[in-house]
Parts: sequence; C-alpha cells; structure tokens
Amino acid sequence: MTTYAAHPIVDGFPGKSHSHGAFGWSSLWLLDDGVRRVLVDAGQPAYIPLIHEGLARHGLTASDITDVLITHLHWDHVANFTMFENATTWVGEAELAWAAQQPAGTTFIPDLHVRELLRRTEGVERMAPGQEVLPGIHALASAGHTPHHLAFFAERTDDRLIFAGDAVKNIHELATAQADSTMDADASVATIDRLRSLLTDTAGVLVPGHDVGLRLDGRSVERVRPQRAAIGFFADGDGDEQDRSIG
Ligand SMILES: [Zn+2]
Repeated sequence: MTTYAAHPIVDGFPGKSHSHGAFGWSSLWLLDDGVRRVLVDAGQPAYIPLIHEGLARHGLTASDITDVLITHLHWDHVANFTMFENATTWVGEAELAWAAQQPAGTTFIPDLHVRELLRRTEGVERMAPGQEVLPGIHALASAGHTPHHLAFFAERTDDRLIFAGDAVKNIHELATAQADSTMDADASVATIDRLRSLLTDTAGVLVPGHDVGLRLDGRSVERVRPQRAAIGFFADGDGDEQDRSIG
C-alpha cells in the first residue's frame, strides 16, 4: 500500500490583528501518493501566488491537484477551491447546509463561495464525519469552532498526520484545551481532548489550522520546526519598507 508524502505548501501562523480583523494565515498542506494529489484546505485569496510557488517546489501545478478537502467554511480555508480545475472539492454536508443558512455579512463566511459549492453538480462532493474520504484519509467530527467542522486523520503518511483545521488553531490551544474563537466552548474543549488523545495514541503530528505541525513530548506540546513569518511596513515617506519578523 502506498503512502502519502506530506508537504506544507503554506505554513499557518498563530497571529491575530487587534486592529484589522483576522490575518487568515491558515495552514495548507499537500498529500501526494503518486496518484492522488490532495490539498487539505484551500487557503485565502492572498495565498494564490504562494500556492503556485509551493506546488512548483514539488514539480506540480494547480491542474495536477485531484482532491481538495475542506475542514470548514471560513474564508481563509475555502477561498481558493476554484483554482484547481481538475480537482474534486470535498465539503462537509452538514457544514455546507449550516453555512448556506447564514445571512450575507456573517463573520468569516464567504457567501459567494458557499453558494458556488451548493450550485456545482460536478467537482464537488459532500462528506460526513467517520467517512474514509480517500484511501487512508478519514474525516473526524470536530465541532466547536463551527458546528460541523471536520478534521482529517491521514494514517498513510510517515508521521501519521492529524489535520485539525481550526478545531485546534495553534500550539496554545492544544496545550491548554482552550479555544480562542469558538461557537461552542464546551464542544471545542471536548474536540481538542479527542484530537489530543488521537495524537497520543498514534504518536503522530497534529497540524493546526494556524500553526506548524505539533508533537507531544510527554505532557508538553512542541512545534516540529520553528514558527516564522514576516510583515513589511511602509513606515514613512522615505521609500524604505521596514521588515518585521515574527516568531
Ligand atoms: Zn475558522
């Protein structure tokens, strides 16, 4: 049985703007078994050049992607599903039904994307928790952040990866079981506990929605590699951009 090679295309970042809403710097990963080339989440619009560059690092283009798995219908996780012309986009049936009921202007819900997912009869498939969506990739119920959020367990990867999406957004949430942005705090705590147990049982790596991969070392949680990001800031009129590194 072949295994999937797993590659981060864009690393998520656990930051928060206090002035201009969410960064939306989400995690976007590629699983490739030589036949299927699967993206876990589609990222936000600003990621389009990063996705092209990231796929090119592996000799791929957007048209090589066969499947896109969506954890939940927030803008920063779903926006680019339309750029993969040959892919099947997998969306949680209950999550889609819920998102479709939200009025335009609901925080984090991109209403046009939701409408397009509902409208398409080809290239979009609905999935349910407990389903083996693709060989060796299982959808897991992970409610809280949104009511029908899905995580994915990829058992046929070297690290046995758990893609938590925003059920676990960052290292802090896995370490404390406290979720910063959730529609149901109790459900989020239960979800984080369940995913942490799976991580313990598998001795794998958990990929949060907005952080690099995490491992358990005894009771403590560690990043598998350093967290890095940078922003540029045009501070004044002298034409110089100032870089600020974060993390
Ligand atoms: Zn979200």
